[in-house]
Amino acid sequence: MTHIAFFNFPAVGHVNPTLGVVEELVKRGHRVTCTSTDYFAPAFEAIGATPVVYESPFGEFYRSPYNEETMAGEGLRCLDEAIALHKQVSGYYGEDRPDVIVHDFMAWGARFYASEHNIPAVRLFPSYAVSETFNITQKFPFAAPDDPKILEMVERLVGLLPTFGLPADMGAFVTHVEKSGIVFLPRDFHYDGDTFDERFVFAGPSIADRSAFQGSWQPKSEDRPVLLISLGTAATGWPEFFSLALKAFGDSEWDVVMAVGDHIDAAELGEIPANFEVRRHVPQLDVLEHARVFLTHAGMNSTMESLYHGVPMVAVPQMNEQRANALRVEELGLGRHLPREKTSVETLREAVEAVAADETVTERVRRMQASLRSVDGPVVAADAVEKRLAATD
Ligand code: UDP
Repeated sequence: MTHIAFFNFPAVGHVNPTLGVVEELVKRGHRVTCTSTDYFAPAFEAIGATPVVYESPFGEFYRSPYNEETMAGEGLRCLDEAIALHKQVSGYYGEDRPDVIVHDFMAWGARFYASEHNIPAVRLFPSYAVSETFNITQKFPFAAPDDPKILEMVERLVGLLPTFGLPADMGAFVTHVEKSGIVFLPRDFHYDGDTFDERFVFAGPSIADRSAFQGSWQPKSEDRPVLLISLGTAATGWPEFFSLALKAFGDSEWDVVMAVGDHIDAAELGEIPANFEVRRHVPQLDVLEHARVFLTHAGMNSTMESLYHGVPMVAVPQMNEQRANALRVEELGLGRHLPREKTSVETLREAVEAVAADETVTERVRRMQASLRSVDGPVVAADAVEKRLAATD
């Protein structure tokens, strides 16, 4: 039986899009192991994969309030994460050599391991892909290239690469996809989508059923429109946003489902209007089945899941990649971008109502939904992994 090893990056937005392809590969009879923190192990077990649990220096950070100011240090944290991942899982995989390594583009430890042991690899892009000619950070920088934290990371990483048999070249390390990359968005949503060659497979969102570990959700009434509000799992440390949303949509015609995340206590929000359901986390896919509008931070998964369910968005981004998504949503007529600094009770209400009433937006979202649903993401992605397995080089 072939052994396919997924080396994951321990963040919800990175793990979720892999679940469909892991499940598909298990169904096809492969043995799949997935590096995982304790937090994600139940999700992998639920789909028949074996979690390989390690202690992550990054994992808990990513689930703590995350904002633009913390971004410059992300590379250093990625490096520490890579070193920890490589060190801790090497013993496990030493006894049980994978036939192919499928890894998140930020799970650098996988690159170290694959190179050191000469194992073929497939790179996963849960958000925009990176190639020799495209990197989203050129259009939307996440930090100044001469930030001391970035320079420190580059120096340390470049010093380390040759010990794993990799060239001491930061640019090539980031941009060069050797044989195979899987992108969890459609080419027509991707900026400069047509610049990616045949190494890149656009699998789209690859949605998997998450009810086994997330539970399910049903609307209270079929008659009232549902508004979903969420800032995702990481950028949730913005309590004022949730207070504004309560004021904007309290006692309105909307049934509002608001996921506030791990960083604020719902009790701090004061009295909750009767038309609001406030929870830390919701089974987002279930709510989107019924939602009329999604007021979102525009993380890539949330954006894709919204389109997959035919739900237009009001996008309130906080960071570079979310801003890229929000602008793309607006550019493609799939909703509206509401900049964070312009967020108020009035602008929230106005944007949500305008998007709900806009027939052109509804039509464009439907078209994008049909395009997303015409691709069976998990199947396309699993085919790409099998193709890499079959290749002899
Ligand atoms: N999510 C969820 N319930 C919540 C909040 C988020 O299921 O209450 C899921 C959501 O469906 C998506 C992921 O968490 O798959 C968030 O990923 P995204 O890329 O949108 O944002 P991030 O959390 O990485 O900023």
